Amino acid sequence: MSLRLLLVEDDRELRATLREALQVEGFGVATAASLADARAQWAESLREGREAFDLVLLDLGLPDGDGAMFLAELRQRRGTPLIVISAREAEGQKIQALDAGADDYLVKPVGIGELLARMRVALRHRGREALPAVTHWRGGGLEVDLAAHRVRRDGADVHLTPREFALLAALVRHAGRVRTHRQLLADVWGAEHVEQTQYLRLYMAQLRAKLEAVPAEPEWLLTELGVGYRLASA
Ligand code: CA
Repeated sequence: MSLRLLLVEDDRELRATLREALQVEGFGVATAASLADARAQWAESLREGREAFDLVLLDLGLPDGDGAMFLAELRQRRGTPLIVISAREAEGQKIQALDAGADDYLVKPVGIGELLARMRVALRHRGREALPAVTHWRGGGLEVDLAAHRVRRDGADVHLTPREFALLAALVRHAGRVRTHRQLLADVWGAEHVEQTQYLRLYMAQLRAKLEAVPAEPEWLLTELGVGYRLASA
């Protein structure tokens, strides 16, 4: 059975383009052009006794309100994977949406290849929630085993401080997905330090120096400008 998507986007042209591209990939696609439309589609799918939607693609700037409101409503009840599709100028909104539980975001214009890759990660991650957490990650010559507390680069052990390891672990557990500065700071330093982005910059630089071939052009520990960091999908 094909997966069912809800695409919430008020730009008619983009909506049509994405729907067509996603249908070609075999997804069932329902569309909504406004917040009210999205709520109606969701309610209708529940009324029909279907399993609602498998994934939501959500634009934030909608004619009748902020898409983040739909995200908040969804998160109160369900863990449905949700990817925000946003305009770059709405950076604050983007961070808010991620902190509120969006799985990822994409900046317009949206490349279909990139969108499909992010969708796969989001679906895989949510599908795994009931299973043991991700404890192992490998990319190129880099290997991280959280359970064994071991990091190797080209076969050689790399020594990390406890804090460096904690930061790397926070990224491995969400590999392929963006984590906001606040999420990482809360994970590694605690909720009272979520504003201390200088900690994060310092430790990320240290991690890159130890793990990246060219620290200034990281291959794995990627910066999401103004938002946070992402460990590349291996
Ligand atoms: Ca819009």
